[in-house]
Amino acid sequence: MTDFNATRARFDLPEGVIYLDGNSLGPLPRGVAARVAQAITGEWGQMLITGWNKAGWMDLPARVGDRVGRLIGAAPGTVTMGDTLSIKVYQALASALELRPDRRVILSDTGNFPSDLYMADGLCRTLGPDYTLRTVAPEDVEAAIDESIAVLMLTEVDYRTGRKHDMASLIARAHAAGALVVWDLAHSAGAIPVDVTGADADFAVGCSYKYLNSGPGGPAFIYVAPRLAEATRPALSGWLGHEAPFAFDLDYRPGRGVERMRVGTPPILQLAALDAALDVWDGVDMQDLRARSIELQESFLARVEAGSRELTLASPRDPALRGSQVSFRHPQGYAIIQALIAEGVIGDFRAPDILRFGFTPLYLSPEDVDEAADRLCAIMAARSWDRPQFHARAKVT
Ligand SMILES: *Cc1c(COP(=O)(O)O)cnc(C)c1O
Repeated sequence: MTDFNATRARFDLPEGVIYLDGNSLGPLPRGVAARVAQAITGEWGQMLITGWNKAGWMDLPARVGDRVGRLIGAAPGTVTMGDTLSIKVYQALASALELRPDRRVILSDTGNFPSDLYMADGLCRTLGPDYTLRTVAPEDVEAAIDESIAVLMLTEVDYRTGRKHDMASLIARAHAAGALVVWDLAHSAGAIPVDVTGADADFAVGCSYKYLNSGPGGPAFIYVAPRLAEATRPALSGWLGHEAPFAFDLDYRPGRGVERMRVGTPPILQLAALDAALDVWDGVDMQDLRARSIELQESFLARVEAGSRELTLASPRDPALRGSQVSFRHPQGYAIIQALIAEGVIGDFRAPDILRFGFTPLYLSPEDVDEAADRLCAIMAARSWDRPQFHARAKVT
């Protein structure tokens, strides 16, 4: 059994804060600051450029990629790290489309994160007027898969509602229609059990700064199924994805397997942070994590619904159909979240009216969750959100 008291002791959360936003930016694990300081002063400071070899910087995207891979069911050598998630979405989508040259349609859903849709739209414009992005409601995706679809591009867990797609069955359906699938695991990696190998995923991407706690701007990951990797042609053919970057050839030759999805110089300091942050996962069983996440979500949900009638559940009621978050709707959602943050409970708001709460068993206890629900209900009962300072919108919500 996973010891969640032990994992909780591995985080440095500010005193008095209950953090229900680890789905947006994970908190700082102990050991990360020291590891980054070592990478700065011990490696960069002392080794200078020799750090690329001596400190193993050049292999860090693959080495850390393997550690992330374990959390999503990917075999060693099938995941690499770098860039931002938006870039990785573009890369995966471009390569998948190229593998289906006789088709022109990308299918996605209206619950997808806008950046994924914007990247797809931009790619379509580059490829030409016959390429299109089609979006349907999340519950209509399965029925919309037909033989015109080149690539199905989905985020497994909806960032607003927490609704979870059935990955294995959608992959089977897409493959039967001759389509490839790109999965965005931004709200899955480190949140729920994922098995890209067992589900027969083609491409998967995700970020490390949410449930994997790598810190603001931490690098994204990309997985390519081994059966596709050697046939995949990278659209962003940067020198570090070349078979021999230091041959400085004038012609591009893709590197081995997923290595070809590297683009340019990797962010070593952020990778060092992620590498240290991943130590927290040693000894964590993803099934235990899922069970505990559901327990925390269910208890929060029941307590909020018992304490306030004003908030409407925006997430599926069946916990099996949710990721690791619970969302409510309220027209004054922004102000309510601001009032809650002022009370030491950090959740977030997503336009137009979603109050979003992420559940991260590594550092959240059942007592935290009860306390957070009680403070939320107290704010609702007293209408204390209705003060001018809680209505002023900041740049990031
Ligand atoms: C968080 C998130 C992103 C953010 O992309 P970045 O390029 O890392 O800023 C993209 N897509 C999804 C589905 C996300 O949840």
